[in-house]
Amino acid sequence: MYMQKAYRFRLYPADEQRGQMTRIIGCCRFVWNRLLEYSSKSYKRRGERHSAYDLNNFIAHTLKPAYPWLTDAPAQTLQCVSADLSAAFKAFFRKDADYPKFKKKHRSKKSFRIPQKGKVDADNNRIYVQGVGWVDAVIHRKPSGKLKNITVTVNPSGSVYASCLFEDGFEVPSPVIPVKPKVLGIDLNLERLAVCSDGTEYGNPRVLKQHEKRLKHLQRMLAKKRKGSENWKKLRTEIAVLHEKVANIRKDAIHKMTKSIVCDSQADAIVIEDLNVSGMFRNHKLSKHIQDASFYEIRRQIEYKSLWYGKTLIAADRFFASSRTCSVCGWHNDGLTLRDREWECPVCHTRHDRDRNSALNLESFGLSALAGDAGEVKPPEMPAVDESRVCTCIRSMASVNEEKDHGYSMEAPKLA
Ligand SMILES: [Zn+2]
Repeated sequence: MYMQKAYRFRLYPADEQRGQMTRIIGCCRFVWNRLLEYSSKSYKRRGERHSAYDLNNFIAHTLKPAYPWLTDAPAQTLQCVSADLSAAFKAFFRKDADYPKFKKKHRSKKSFRIPQKGKVDADNNRIYVQGVGWVDAVIHRKPSGKLKNITVTVNPSGSVYASCLFEDGFEVPSPVIPVKPKVLGIDLNLERLAVCSDGTEYGNPRVLKQHEKRLKHLQRMLAKKRKGSENWKKLRTEIAVLHEKVANIRKDAIHKMTKSIVCDSQADAIVIEDLNVSGMFRNHKLSKHIQDASFYEIRRQIEYKSLWYGKTLIAADRFFASSRTCSVCGWHNDGLTLRDREWECPVCHTRHDRDRNSALNLESFGLSALAGDAGEVKPPEMPAVDESRVCTCIRSMASVNEEKDHGYSMEAPKLA
């Protein structure tokens, strides 16, 4: 397994190039919807499942002859749509995801992927996007390795980014566990973002909170405007820009924190609770805060960064009572509720900070798991390290959030 890293660069397309990008995105959306229709019919009538190969044939022999303008998009980009839909169906059959949905023009994420033939020219600050040509870009750092693919995303605010996935040819380091390993337990929670067993705390950025007032205000104004009018459009763009800003600040904070946890802490192994985040999303009372804190994203980043830096990641069972057990004597506090931030152990009289106690328990869990006593040591799987997904994921969390509060969203919620 080789190391893969995604670099995200801002693109500055000329008007004509922007138009071509919009056309490609339109083709991809059209193809997705037609393929979904085709797959749904076969599945509902005959229980048939189509492979990406079948779908590619359908594009080449049925869709393209009927809709010649589909040649506006590179063939390989359309094949990525087949691959994505096929993956979406597989996830559905595995019961990991809902049934694939149709993409709506104004609600779906505007992006397309180019699997080959892309180039990143760092010296001249430009990126070659197949089907569009050389596009001006800001290459703020030089990527190393072989370019695997490029994903171009046009944000609701109008800004365009290219997420470039590179494989550098180095094997992923195998985790080394010394005789006396340093194990770091991490408690992720709602109030504080993360509390580590070594005492380090990371604050919750709560960026949305700061901007929420302004967003709410803008949303209220938007509701008063006539839908489709010039002022309505202007305001909608302003809201999109604010969303993007929030997403970027949040992303930055989470990246810094996970880097610090995985790398700067010098821990050999990291222990987290195996939170069932998608399950928690259904709990409406908790969901807003969870979205704010972007648990899912933190977890994802800790996973892939552990892999990069050769750390062992241990996921403690979800039913492991990390916050209820006294980390000093092991007494079990059954009466502990979510509201109790501090408690005192009646047996050893230790005063516990709920989160720190939980982190300490996770640390001991990790130590015993490494010694082979309990639990399971889970090496994280290589996730698709696509920065554009990071951004999407976080932003759509913000959208879900907003949709609930204001009944309006810039993007359809989508969790990878
Ligand atoms: Zn105790």
